[in-house]
Amino acid sequence: MSGNQVRLQAIEQITNRAPKEVALTEPLSKIWATDVFNFQKMEEALSKSAFKAIKKTVQTGKALDAATADIVAAAMKDWALSKGAKFFSHVFYPMTNATAEKHDAFILTNSDGAAINEFTGTLLIKGEPDGSSFPNGSLRMTNAARGYTAWDPTSPAYIQQTANGATLMIPSVFMSWTGEALDKKIPLLRSNSAMNEAAQKVLSLMGETEIADLNSSCGPEQEYFLVDENFANARPDLLLAGRTLFGASPAKGQQFDDHYFGAIPARVQVFMQDFEDKLYKLGIPAKTHHNEVAPGQFEIAPYYGAANVGADQQQLLMTTMKQTAKEHGFLCLLHEKPFAGINGSGKHVNWSVGNSTQGNLLDPGKTPHSNLQFLLFCGAVIRGVHKYGPLLRAVIATASNDHRLGANEAPPAIMSVYLGDQLEKVFEDIKAGKLTGSTDGGEMDLGLAQILNFDRDPGDRNRTSPFAFTGNRFEFRAVGSSQSVSGPLVAMNTMLADSLNWIADKLEVALAKQDQTAAVISVLKELMEEHGNAVFGGDGYSSEWHKAAVEERGLLNIPTTADALPHFMSENIVGLFERTGVLSPVELESRYEVYAEQYNLTIEVESKLVADIAKTKIYPAAIAYLSELTHASVSVADLGIELDTTITKEVAEHTNGLLAAVTKLEAEVTKHDFADAEAHMRHSADTLIPLMVEVRTHADALELLVADELWPLPKYQEMLFIK
Ligand code: ADP
Ligand code: MG
Repeated sequence: MSGNQVRLQAIEQITNRAPKEVALTEPLSKIWATDVFNFQKMEEALSKSAFKAIKKTVQTGKALDAATADIVAAAMKDWALSKGAKFFSHVFYPMTNATAEKHDAFILTNSDGAAINEFTGTLLIKGEPDGSSFPNGSLRMTNAARGYTAWDPTSPAYIQQTANGATLMIPSVFMSWTGEALDKKIPLLRSNSAMNEAAQKVLSLMGETEIADLNSSCGPEQEYFLVDENFANARPDLLLAGRTLFGASPAKGQQFDDHYFGAIPARVQVFMQDFEDKLYKLGIPAKTHHNEVAPGQFEIAPYYGAANVGADQQQLLMTTMKQTAKEHGFLCLLHEKPFAGINGSGKHVNWSVGNSTQGNLLDPGKTPHSNLQFLLFCGAVIRGVHKYGPLLRAVIATASNDHRLGANEAPPAIMSVYLGDQLEKVFEDIKAGKLTGSTDGGEMDLGLAQILNFDRDPGDRNRTSPFAFTGNRFEFRAVGSSQSVSGPLVAMNTMLADSLNWIADKLEVALAKQDQTAAVISVLKELMEEHGNAVFGGDGYSSEWHKAAVEERGLLNIPTTADALPHFMSENIVGLFERTGVLSPVELESRYEVYAEQYNLTIEVESKLVADIAKTKIYPAAIAYLSELTHASVSVADLGIELDTTITKEVAEHTNGLLAAVTKLEAEVTKHDFADAEAHMRHSADTLIPLMVEVRTHADALELLVADELWPLPKYQEMLFIK
């Protein structure tokens, strides 16, 4: 079938699209966490002492002895077999944003040739995938391949259901034979320990005697697009690059602001409910869903939980979402910018730290000015954003997120922190060496008797800030929709650990000289004088801010991944990770190399696709139309009439322009001989991307000229509005 027929058929089929027929959703009480080996199931299956031991490990990170591991393994196996599992898999999270799994059967044959199911503590604790076949940034050569996965008991095992079977999935860390972290989980666990250690110091200096282990939490809001599979199948760019590499702006896009929080299309609502039932079975607390700003764009936000578990669940959520969308005839796009000129997708990562004795340390309470512990932790975040802004920028740097950052729909590429009116005033006071008080938001009174009054928040929201305080947590708003949340969580925990260590040192000295309040003010005053420049409450999208941030405040504007990633190797950031023990210099360098390679590969694949689609789909359509036009001219001339050739000339010019740009792009994309990763990234950013744009400019102009019936690629207005 030729290209345009696929498109025309997709258009025809969409008119008959109906929601997928599914069974009614089941009550939460019946499905909640049925596929998770959680405390409840462990308690049922284990002896009292074994249960107590594993619970302690989960809650405090205390090591589990080998005998208990054996008992847990046996119980886990029995539970998995009762759910129909024949295989188990250590699930791990390599340095890409992917989830990896190697499946092994429980089967073992005995000397009589009979098959038995076996699963020991040793098998539970350790798996052995090939360490060199995953991106490792030269940490593992192909000839030094040994890598290990190891069970992370703090994240619950679960069952992955497929139509005709089940697999026991065991969340794991992944390391090289030499013990270096090859994954995203090890640094996350380490960053949490570093944060806990530093927080303990500060809290005991503040006079606390009973301090439980602190944990960081994560509440991710996931944005995504859905496109009908018939359209997606006619768009190799969507299938292979996750975004449209071509496509003229539609007459109607998102300009009416009529999609955000609008009525959810029936087909999508059915998908969401189906998807959320699957999440509930997996123990993922899906909480909020709604339409997002762009047509075809939606959001799902689970309720927040421990960062380590939250990060694993977020990976599982993304996989489950893509799979379920497929079952409903959609392609689910997690790309940050699937459609040019239309809002892209992000993943706001809500983050706080706390424990069972002091509670959430980022909760200011009603009178933040008298909550010294909160002020210290909040101050530590401010210092972190200022001192390690380039790190926060680097951990969200991907080829796809570059399309979104700083594009007036997403936070700018300058890292600043928003506190809200109330807190901004408190920290300004502190900078002036005082702590006078704070005003709350007062009461919301509409003067309508039937509408009950309520307490207003002490500060407004600021959606233009990349990093915003939102009442009892910070929201890292610049994270990309396709990303693992681990990198951002590691950066936040680690910068907090470092700042709390700095605070602890200063506080100890200050407390020897003055009372507690005066000591806290003096430490925070020094902190604000050095780092207060990161606090910004205005419009982050404005050009004035872009200028002032750089020229007056000395903040860095880091526009692209090619600019951002090299910061990983700066002394400041290498030192941070080394001091806190989160990543050794070698481990950090390997991450830099892997992320740079991912960036270059993405741009290379896109460049090749652009050239391919331009030559084999767009050029033929343009030529076919030119031929129609010129034939018509000649025939009409026979009648003595001269046809207007404006369109013919425009089509011809853009067709030539398209081909010329493709030729340049094809020549550039074959270059691979670069001095280092940075030089390669510069070539991708400065040469390949502009050439792709050049090809696209001609193609998009052609889309608006060539006869509709000849156009091979589904158009924006067809794909964006879901039926
Ligand atoms: P928004 O109004 O920001 O769009 P949502 O309800 O969509 O809010 O998402 C907010 C997210 O923040 C949810 O995942 C929620 O569970 C999470 N969250 C709430 N409190 C905390 C906290 N203290 N720490 C981390 N995440 C939190
Ligand atoms: Mg939200």
